[in-house]
Amino acid sequence: MSRPCFASFAVALPLHRVFEYRLDGAESAVPGTRYRLPFSNQVKTGVLLRVDASSCYDPGKVRQVLGRLDEHPVLDAHVLELAQWIADYYLQPLGEVIFQCLPARLRGQRPHNPARLKVWRLVSTDAQAIESLAARSPRQYEICCALQAQAAGLTAASLKLINANWHAVIKSLEAKRLVEWSWMDQLAALPNPTLPDLNLEQRAVLHAIQPELNHFAVHLLDGITGSGKTEIYFRLIAARMAAGYQVIYLVPEIGLTNQLIERVTARFGEGFVTSHSGLSDVQRYLAWDRFRRGEINLMIGTRSCLFSQCPNLGLIVIDEEHDTSYRQEDGVRYHARDVAVKRAQMLNIPIVLGSATPSLESIGNCVRQHYHRHRLDHRSTRHPPPEILLENLHDRKLDSGFSQKTLKRIQQHLSDGGQILVYLNRRGFAPVVMCHECGWQALCAHCDSRLTLHQSISGLLCHHCGLRRESPTRCPQCGHSEIHHHGIGTEQLEKGLVQCFPDIPVLRVDRDVIGTPDAFKDRLLQLQKGQPCILVGTQMVAKGHDYPAITLSVILDADQALFSASYRASERLAQTLFQVSGRAGRGDRPGEAIVQTRFPDHPLMLSLARQHYREIAESLLEERRLLGLPPYSRVVMFRADARELKMALDHLEAIKSILSGIECFDAVKCIGPMPALMMRRIGRYRAQLALLGQDYPNLRRLLKRALPALDVLPAKGQVRWTVDVDAFDL
Ligand code: ADP
Ligand code: ZN
Ligand code: ZN
Repeated sequence: MSRPCFASFAVALPLHRVFEYRLDGAESAVPGTRYRLPFSNQVKTGVLLRVDASSCYDPGKVRQVLGRLDEHPVLDAHVLELAQWIADYYLQPLGEVIFQCLPARLRGQRPHNPARLKVWRLVSTDAQAIESLAARSPRQYEICCALQAQAAGLTAASLKLINANWHAVIKSLEAKRLVEWSWMDQLAALPNPTLPDLNLEQRAVLHAIQPELNHFAVHLLDGITGSGKTEIYFRLIAARMAAGYQVIYLVPEIGLTNQLIERVTARFGEGFVTSHSGLSDVQRYLAWDRFRRGEINLMIGTRSCLFSQCPNLGLIVIDEEHDTSYRQEDGVRYHARDVAVKRAQMLNIPIVLGSATPSLESIGNCVRQHYHRHRLDHRSTRHPPPEILLENLHDRKLDSGFSQKTLKRIQQHLSDGGQILVYLNRRGFAPVVMCHECGWQALCAHCDSRLTLHQSISGLLCHHCGLRRESPTRCPQCGHSEIHHHGIGTEQLEKGLVQCFPDIPVLRVDRDVIGTPDAFKDRLLQLQKGQPCILVGTQMVAKGHDYPAITLSVILDADQALFSASYRASERLAQTLFQVSGRAGRGDRPGEAIVQTRFPDHPLMLSLARQHYREIAESLLEERRLLGLPPYSRVVMFRADARELKMALDHLEAIKSILSGIECFDAVKCIGPMPALMMRRIGRYRAQLALLGQDYPNLRRLLKRALPALDVLPAKGQVRWTVDVDAFDL
């Protein structure tokens, strides 16, 4: 009998430790394999991390694993090492990080057994034969038409949506040799697209990056909106794929539009997979597996795609690198851009970040020569991005949220055949509902926030916890019969625009109307037609889209950012304004951008109207340096929440006292504990404790030493706490 062996496993639990079990035959066990483990009275899934010759526990008490789930490891050594780094750097529990690296479908005990999908395609080009089915066999005709529209073919699931009895219909069509099936992963030949001639700037950038593709380097494409960054990504991706490498291409959550997929398909045919929250777990799992097996060389998707493993990664591209959706803020906290840079460094491969409005972090890294900066200052289309015009709202009467002058400009652009983009980052009808008699306001019972009036549900809604209330007809406090609403949201804006421009389609895009990716697609398709229309929306309209018929961007209510408590508000405002204004004038006609403001003399507003993003970013960066704020320091934020504020504060006080007992504490600036800006959320009280350190290695040493004690700190009154390394706000 072989001697007993022990092994350490990662389990998806919020604890900073691994779990040891007895594993017979451990000599042949490979890290990254999933096992079934006895865990209290349950069975849990664990990922094997390493085999240990001896145990630090009483060997008699170490339990035996129940069984192996995978024949071969589902995570390779590189992804395990990356997970270890994330756990270490972001102080996140290793088990949770490792399970995050797996597709959701493999986080439980399902076997790793990717089914091959069949697809059916139309093989006959005999139009007459198909048309003749219309009268004789409408069910066969219907499926033929659907297949005709889908060159890549349809799976059983899609066919079933057309006809529940699809199988019999397909059999008849197969017998007539009109339709054939194949395995989905049999790729069609690559298209042979005609590529646009690169302009001088694009060529210079490509020349600078191409010789550097064989080693680790971070390249920042700092190029204005519409300067052809995507075209450069495509060339680099094609070059890497031609050399036999695989590529991960990350886009922001709502940047993965139909338009991008069409562009990628035109370029790379079926030779790519996508992964994003709009897909089912099975679809994401199959995409993950095909990329993992090296059968597909290009993976496009949102944040979590970064963990896709593959045998031969040769390039990572991150579009809109400044986008906040690259930060994961619940569960495992990390920043996908920064993790991607680490992954590239570990593999010694290049990474390309791109943005028209790069983050101050990345600009700072260029200044320190950690990143290479490549500039693109000209649009490849006819007109430069529009300048930002400030429309002074002071003492002006507004009509549906617009000044008369703005409305005239909208009318003018529509008459000239242009499309309009209106940006307002507030959904709903009106953000404030109150009684003028006694001052009562509609507030959420569970959060420190106001309820927003939503006409579509004829009620009030809390945007933080989802609480819904009927709209009161009388003041609940004084009984007065008049309740007023103030302020304006996208729902009201849409209504006002429909009244002002009754003949023009108004397309609203926000979370209330866009429940599915298809609803979004629908609106974008209408834009693509190029007819005059008005697109109204929140963040969702601000990024990534390239619609040449948009000639005017209007930005409403930029002012709230001027008085925000967040030190990042100016950076974010500048990014939003340049992104939104940059949507205009990408076609044959020049664009215009209007920002309505009550504070046209505010220094930030003035510089937004007069300077380029780059100049503004430089002065914001200098400001951060003088104040010792990131990227010139690091912020680590402890947050706690509980049923009572005191419990949350007490817990953070206990954390602080552990930290202050360690000698490196003196070099760190500590702010708090104090109540969070929004103190009550979803019925719980929240508090925070921030650490600010200029000397990061010192800050890390402090945290690493404190962590074991923090883990076992008793959580009185069900306090929950988290730590956020490189937190965004103070
Ligand atoms: P960005 O990613 O910088 O916003 P895109 O790559 O989307 O810019 O390019 C903007 C538009 O210009 C797209 O319609 C694209 O097809 C077009 N374009 C890009 N490069 C060229 C080029 N060299 N010649 C002609 N058109 C180009
Ligand atoms: Zn009242
Ligand atoms: Zn609420």
